[in-house]
Amino acid sequence: MSIYLIFFIVLSYLFWIKCIYYRHRRTLMKSLKHVMNVLSSGETDGSDIRAVIVTAHPDDECMFFAPTIVRLVELNASVHLLCLSEGNYYNQGTQRKQELLNSCAVLGIPASRVTIVDHKKLPDDPKAEWSISLISALIVKHIRAHSLNMVLTFDGRGVSGHANHVAIHKAVSHLASTGQVPNDCCLLSLVTVGLLRKYISFLELPLSWLLFSSLCCIIGSQGYRQAKAAMLCHRTQLLWFRYLYITFSRYMFINTFQIIPQGPKNLKIY
Ligand SMILES: [Zn+2]
Repeated sequence: MSIYLIFFIVLSYLFWIKCIYYRHRRTLMKSLKHVMNVLSSGETDGSDIRAVIVTAHPDDECMFFAPTIVRLVELNASVHLLCLSEGNYYNQGTQRKQELLNSCAVLGIPASRVTIVDHKKLPDDPKAEWSISLISALIVKHIRAHSLNMVLTFDGRGVSGHANHVAIHKAVSHLASTGQVPNDCCLLSLVTVGLLRKYISFLELPLSWLLFSSLCCIIGSQGYRQAKAAMLCHRTQLLWFRYLYITFSRYMFINTFQIIPQGPKNLKIY
């Protein structure tokens, strides 16, 4: 294959990525309205969106959800964070709480919208089995207390497979299937992709675009700088492989979500 042909293919691929990015910017609000089941065709921003990102540990918010947070904040949505542990696996809980608040400030979430749960039954530990009923109760209480209309969390594979991430998905799915979520609240799970797709950075974008998802959030170079700055707030976590993650993970650029289907409301399980 001639060098010119390779050059042409690479350039075309990068051009395709750029086109997808600009198209996404134009269509994001429409996708958000679709997942929220809002029929209004008027030109509105996202100020009607009151979203919560439910995570397990300090740093999940920027490692996995940064593109979504950056985009929602840009659209003037109220973005909350509910982190279900202090990240105390190495007894650094106090430090990690502050790091989380700093990271959220960089991403545009004020401290008043950050809730960090410190519960002895929810330790930061991949071997600990988190109680689904306890997590469900905490999430539903948070939804009602802040009149939230969007919940974003992990899917059944938890992106990294961490048991605490998976437990949150189980709890949200439980709320969905038992009809305990308010009518106007939509539930979304972050799609876990395979290893190869996960570590090819923004080059993965065409695949994410072609495969069906309910919502796709993409950030450009400016958003990436913000996500990277948020990651760097987590000083206790900055081991060498974290720098590789910042450089190569597609979750630093792209988030895709699927809707978690909801069952009949107020279903009683006997
Ligand atoms: Zn985590």
